[in-house]
Amino acid sequence: MRTHIESLVEYMKYLKELGYDGFPLAGTPAKAQAEDVDMYDSRQLSLTNIRLAVEQCTKCRLSSTRTHTVPGEGSCNAGLMFIGEAPGYDEDQQGRPFVGRAGKLLTDIINAMGMQREDVFIANVIKCRPPENRDPSDDEISECSPYLFNQIDIIKPKVIVTLGRHSTTTILGLHTTVKISELRGNFFHYKGIKVMPTFHPAYLLRNEKDKRLVWNDMKLVLKELGRPAPESRNKK
Ligand code: SF4
Repeated sequence: MRTHIESLVEYMKYLKELGYDGFPLAGTPAKAQAEDVDMYDSRQLSLTNIRLAVEQCTKCRLSSTRTHTVPGEGSCNAGLMFIGEAPGYDEDQQGRPFVGRAGKLLTDIINAMGMQREDVFIANVIKCRPPENRDPSDDEISECSPYLFNQIDIIKPKVIVTLGRHSTTTILGLHTTVKISELRGNFFHYKGIKVMPTFHPAYLLRNEKDKRLVWNDMKLVLKELGRPAPESRNKK
């Protein structure tokens, strides 16, 4: 986990890139300064503030077992967000979302859609790894999900793809017993944003035949984004 000092140094570097010589003086530090920068910088700054808050967060028991926090990454201007459940071993080691085997599959899906990871925003509902990859508890979700909701409010994507049951039920406020297989393939709404539930890449690693269903879902997402579906990748 980054130390507080390391985080502050990184934050100062970021402010320097924006043209500031030091810390904002008073009040709400980054937000007050954001009035002087363009919208892109303002969003980036807000996402940086969330990342710094997550890195220091001890709101739930997962803070005591994590190696790194995994706040999420990608473009603050993303039209598309992918939201998973929680970091696994590889994500906890690297502090980045979806970097293990399931992450490679998600990257393949994004590439097959004609985009790069940097074009979208990838995050999880839970920002620290639950031990042994157990399901996150209700209280952990309720403590951690405000970070994700703030990220969505800042980015305001056109479409959110929820990967698996926990992210879907958290975003849509559904009971946790719903089945993703009954929801996928249909758009739902969160604050006016279209939400497409689909299978988690980790599930697809165990159920290859359902990759076709996910690709069908992604074609609907591409249509909603006004982007063509690459024909050559139809078998993904
Ligand atoms: S899981 Fe979320 S709420 Fe819990 S310590 Fe990590 S960042 Fe904080």
